Amino acid sequence: MPGKKQSKAPAADKVNAKSVSPKVSQAVSMRNLKRQFGKRMVETLLMSPTLVEDMEQIREAGVKIRLVDGPCRAYYDRKKRTIYIGRWCPRNYKLISIAHEFVHALVRPTNDPIPGETGRQEFIDRCLEEECEAIVHEIEIVKDLIKAGIPVDPKELEWLNRYKRGGRKAIKKALQKTITSTTGEDYPEYYGSWYDEIVPPAKRLP
Ligand SMILES: [Zn+2]
Repeated sequence: MPGKKQSKAPAADKVNAKSVSPKVSQAVSMRNLKRQFGKRMVETLLMSPTLVEDMEQIREAGVKIRLVDGPCRAYYDRKKRTIYIGRWCPRNYKLISIAHEFVHALVRPTNDPIPGETGRQEFIDRCLEEECEAIVHEIEIVKDLIKAGIPVDPKELEWLNRYKRGGRKAIKKALQKTITSTTGEDYPEYYGSWYDEIVPPAKRLP
């Protein structure tokens, strides 16, 4: 679990980043990663140039990555500016998920619907777009890992093949029928109930 020691590490990093060259601070962050995730995971990470780039941006933005116990899952907590990854997930899943959550954290951050302003369908579409973006990006990591000879889960290969066949459009179409692991709803339902949670009935727009 993230103890005091770990939460202090990124602050030390920031100080280093200002006074020493980027290469040195990168080495420091790699060392911290090894401590947190283990040597083998960092070695695998280094095989994906895209993910190395993502990690650099995550570090620069001060977004944290933490491992969590319990079932295998990954999510980004906006308030805590932290990416959470299941401790017991397979290594390839952990790496692919960091790239996925990186998009949610820094590339296409999710904004809550504004009551009386954001339409329900508009919100659902926007969330689907963001999720699509995250998946298209994670596919880049999948490609890198395959190139490096690292096995990836069949589910990842499915997304990759869909993308090869029909591009972004095919991803979005499949996503509309995908069931989320968190609630068992399909994605449009899930985003819809999120909207309903935030926007009171009198302020809802279709
Ligand atoms: Zn996502």
